[in-house]
Amino acid sequence: MSFETWKDVWVFVECFKDQPKSVGLELLGQGRKLAEGLKQDLCAVVIGKDTKEAVKAAGEYGADKIYVVEGEEYEDYSADAYGNVFLKLCELYHPNTILVGATVNGRDLGSKIAVSLRTGLTADCTALSVDEETGNVVWERPAFGGNLYAQILCSETRPQMGTCRPGAFKKPEKNPDNEPVVIRREIRTPDEEIRTKVIDFIKACDDNDIRLDEAEIIVSGGRGMKSAENFVLLKELADVLNGTVGCSRAAVDAGWMPQTKQVGQTGATVSPKIYFACGISGAVQHVAGMSESGTIIAINKDETAPIFEVADYCIVGDLFEVVPALVKELKARQQ
Ligand code: FAD
Repeated sequence: MSFETWKDVWVFVECFKDQPKSVGLELLGQGRKLAEGLKQDLCAVVIGKDTKEAVKAAGEYGADKIYVVEGEEYEDYSADAYGNVFLKLCELYHPNTILVGATVNGRDLGSKIAVSLRTGLTADCTALSVDEETGNVVWERPAFGGNLYAQILCSETRPQMGTCRPGAFKKPEKNPDNEPVVIRREIRTPDEEIRTKVIDFIKACDDNDIRLDEAEIIVSGGRGMKSAENFVLLKELADVLNGTVGCSRAAVDAGWMPQTKQVGQTGATVSPKIYFACGISGAVQHVAGMSESGTIIAINKDETAPIFEVADYCIVGDLFEVVPALVKELKARQQ
């Protein structure tokens, strides 16, 4: 099939409990950029039991078309059911490009589609653009432990596919007046074809904790924190700002913090409004996960620490003095 047959940029708008996850909406912003470069439409794909909220959000965040498939069997993600729907939609509409969030489910779905369609997928992209001459998407991602960035092309097959981590890109401007074309398809997946079932959800963190990828303020600590107990200091600062605590890999390796709190290349990619880096040196692998933050405030006693190269505010000092002083001042201002 010639490349001209493959049209449009698709973004999978993943849902959890009928609500769209932020990553799909973030990818609509990147999808728009690619769609303009390819001179094609931007389409969202929404699969679920009740897709109302996700369809509304996909429209508001810029989709020209939305493909919607609903059914009881799509209440929870399963590779069999979602894979079946996605592959049938691909057969019907031949997308040129597919973007999927690099969530646990997105990684599963993306690889299933790529293998089934015998095409290429670039995982964990950090920048996307179009080579207008060839129509290839240029998928950029860190390689060799974050020491260089590789540009990957899928020049032989279509669709061309990529995953991007939650938080790697900002959501585009919301436009409540956008009126997308909504295409509903009846695609069923018989029970006997679904080999896995979700029995229960168990929360990894307590209910009051804000998820790293949803927090507007993150207070992260590294090896400079010196012990697990000392993270209480950062929790106090996070609480007073209504934020959450994150960490570097050194803090995870030391057993002071769980891996779910790790920021960086092998942890979460975050873009909060404010990111505090306390006792973190600023290794490339850490910076890869937080450099898109709105304002970066670094506290480090070593004035030559690389974190100061990406920080907006550089506080050279002992965090065990600076952090309590900040907490005290912020509490005083709140009274
Ligand atoms: P260090 O580099 O040891 O820095 C500690 C800092 O604390 C120093 O700058 C020091 O001056 C400062 N300090 C000490 N005491 C105080 C004090 N009292 N007050 C103020 N400052 C103080 N790392 C990540 O974070 N995330 C990742 O996802 C990640 N993925 C990786 C993937 C690969 C393939 C590899 C090879 C590495 C990865 N790393 C990752 C590890 C990374 O290379 C660094 O080793 C790690 O980020 C260092 O953590 P750190 O900054 O906390 O510790």
